This record gives sequence, structure tokens and C-alpha cells, in this order.
Amino acid sequence: MSVRSCVPSLADSATNTLPSGLGLYIHVPFCLQKCLYCSFYSVTNQPDLYNRYAAAVKEQILRFAERSDIQAQQVHTIFFGGGTPSILGSDLLTRLLKNCFLNFDCAPGLETSLEVNPATVDQAALHELRRAGFNRISIGVQSFDDRELEVLGRVHSAADGIRTVQMARRAGFSNINLDLMYGLPDQDKHKWQESLQQALSLQPEHLSLYELTMEGNTPFAQRYDRGELRLPEEEVVLAMVATTEEMVTAAGLHRYEISNYARPDRKCSHNINYWHNASWLGLGPGAVSSLNGCKIKTISDVECFCQPGANKEERETLDNEAAFRETVVMGLRMIGGIGLEELEKRFAINAISYYGTTLDRLIAHNLVTIEEGRLRLTGQGLLLANTVMAELV
Ligand code: SF4
Repeated sequence: MSVRSCVPSLADSATNTLPSGLGLYIHVPFCLQKCLYCSFYSVTNQPDLYNRYAAAVKEQILRFAERSDIQAQQVHTIFFGGGTPSILGSDLLTRLLKNCFLNFDCAPGLETSLEVNPATVDQAALHELRRAGFNRISIGVQSFDDRELEVLGRVHSAADGIRTVQMARRAGFSNINLDLMYGLPDQDKHKWQESLQQALSLQPEHLSLYELTMEGNTPFAQRYDRGELRLPEEEVVLAMVATTEEMVTAAGLHRYEISNYARPDRKCSHNINYWHNASWLGLGPGAVSSLNGCKIKTISDVECFCQPGANKEERETLDNEAAFRETVVMGLRMIGGIGLEELEKRFAINAISYYGTTLDRLIAHNLVTIEEGRLRLTGQGLLLANTVMAELV
């Protein structure tokens, strides 16, 4: 299934400027149990690995911190994602965050995010994490309907989701994201509106709203192929998308990326850095770094990752043209699109001449537009974003 989205709101300058500095991502590949729709690499029931994992991440931090190109840049965002980072517990997470602060040149007041799943943290842990320096929490609630959560194979209830947001507020987090999914089996527009309304009533600063995608080799895809799951028809999903824009905008959040909405000063700087295809360092099993035109992928296998001193990284250098196309496709995810002059400065390639008739055709079909020197998806283009990007990648 493709990402189908709705009409864009206006671009703003904060998301349009190429970020300076480095993003730091730490991948935590552990989960309590595997959700039935998930195709990401993660392992379950391996708490004996947590300490070895943390030691291996520290080893990677120390190694990268010695590089002169890393020392020359300030870290502007830190993001612990997964997996379910919160199952590591507050002590290990605090230690890892301290290692980042100690070994990299971190900008004062940098955005420091942690992904949390409901039912994996308590009040004391959230207080400790806030004190340690995490200032943004991203909570994977996915739905506020218990039946939907059960179908998805999530470990938590709707009440757990609400409680986690309330505990995060009490712990002092003033920057909270909620992840929700729509287009779920047997979900109709009304059920989606109820989940979204519940999310909005918790007054999050940020929402990430994704359409469920059917990924091969998941229990979900197998059930779907056997005819055991009934997904909403396309027009129902389009109605969900339309109601999303209305409800979220009325609540004071604005769409700034295909799937992301935020209050004006609460966009996720870490992800904006990715969408600009700027520089970041990715540590932990399966994480990818993008540094000076070079991609460095850390081995996905957590057991191998935990072996001290083992060679864990593969390098791939992208040629200028491939990096240019990647940057165009990433940049189009943002509602404000991508500046053509900035692109030409970075890659010495003029996007209009480079894409030629392909771009003419996309413009003629009202899927992309060029306004004020920026190439961006139109409302129609956002609905067909995957198709448009396949033409440009
Ligand atoms: S918690 Fe997230 S990463 Fe883990 S199995 Fe579920 S969807 Fe996948």
C-alpha cells in the first residue's frame, strides 16, 4: 500500500533551510514482542544482551569521536530510536546519553529525543530520563482502540498510551510526539476520528500519522494474503486523510512533512536533518551514517554487533548524481519542498535541466510545482507521493 496524504499547508522558513551540524542517531534493536505488521529488524526476549549492547555502542561512540571530521562538527540533535529504546531502562539510557554528551561537541540545548512504547516505562523512569537530558519523547501509541491494538499485536492498551503521556507531562516533558496509524483492518473514518480526537485531547506538540503498509514476510501480510484481514477501501482511507488535515489543523498543529504535524516551534529537527539529506551519524545495529557523501552501515545482527572489536561497518560512496537524486526525493517529503538554487549549489546540477521532460510531465499532471524557486509536491502529488518519487529517484 502506498502513502496517501492530503492537501499541503503553507511552507515555512524553518524547514526550508539546510540544517548545519550533525544529527546523532542511536538504534536500539530490542522489543518486548514483535508487532504483527512490523518488518523492521529487532529482537525480542534478550535482556541479557542489553549491557553488552550498551558497551558496543560506547565502543562505536569512542571510535567515531576520534575522527577529525566528526570533531569538526557540532551535534545538533540526538535521537534514540528502535525497536523500543525504553525497554533498556533508564539507567542504561542515561549512561548512553552521558557518553554522547561527553564524547561529542553537543550544541547547548540540543533536541534530545527518545522513542518510548507505552507499558515499558513508569513514572520514576520518565523523571530520571528527563533529568538525564532527554527533552523530547516520542510515544508509539499507534491507536487508542483496544481491539485495533490487539489486531496489530501491540503489547499495550489504549489506557497505557494515555497514562504514558500523562506521566511524561508530570516528568516535565514539554515536547511530546505521538505516533498513530490509520487504514487499519476494519477501521472506518469514525473509528479513526475517535483515535485522533483522543490523541489531540492530550495536547501533543507533534503527531506522526502513518498509513498502515503491508510489508512482505510479516504475520500481517500472511493473514492478509489468506483473506483474514479486511483493510479499508481506498475512498475510506482518503476520507480519513481529509478529516486528519481538518482536525489536526483546527487543533493548532501544521503539516510540515508527508506524515508529520507540529506546533510551530516543535518540528522534529532531527528528522528535518534527514529530509535535507544533511550529515548524520547512526550508531547501533542496522543504523546508517551519512558523512561527506559516504554512507556507513553498521551490521544489523545484534550478536555480531556486541562482539568487542569486530568489524561492524560497511561503507558505500554515493556518486554526486546519486546523492543529488536522493536529496531531491528526501526533500520532496517536506511540504515546503526543496530549493532549486540550494540544490545547484550543493551538487552543481540544475534540477530543471536534469529531469527535463520527466519534470515537465509531472508538472503538467499537477503532481509537482515550482514556486518561488522551490520544487514541491502539490496536494495531488502528496496523495501519490510514492509514484512521483519513483520517477525522480
Ligand atoms: S515496537 Fe516498533 S520496532 Fe518493535 S516490533 Fe513493534 S513496530 Fe516493530
